[in-house]
Amino acid sequence: MNKKEMLERFSLLEKRFEELQEDFVTLKKDLVQLVEENHQLAHENHHLRQRLEELSPESAKQGLTEQNQEGDHKSSVGEGYDNLARIYEEGFHICHVYFGTPREEEDCIFCLKFFG
Ligand SMILES: [Zn+2]
Repeated sequence: MNKKEMLERFSLLEKRFEELQEDFVTLKKDLVQLVEENHQLAHENHHLRQRLEELSPESAKQGLTEQNQEGDHKSSVGEGYDNLARIYEEGFHICHVYFGTPREEEDCIFCLKFFG
């Protein structure tokens, strides 16, 4: 292998190395974005679990009252609606279509059916 060949191979390798570096930078950006998304989803998940725990005892109680005490029924349903309304106000869907996903700033016609 002569000098010229060696230099050509060297510059070729250098070019490949630069391309690899570019790929690496892109990949790193994607990874950062994924980590951020994951963090955001974990946060939302945590938030929704908390809300669900607040709701669950009510739904359980609601089931009991339906069987046992008809008189207490209405207030339990009211509290359930209040909790859903609060989740909606905090910016999450409460409709069956998008339940639990962020609502952005817009009203959702499916969610609004709950209040109708
Ligand atoms: Zn909705």
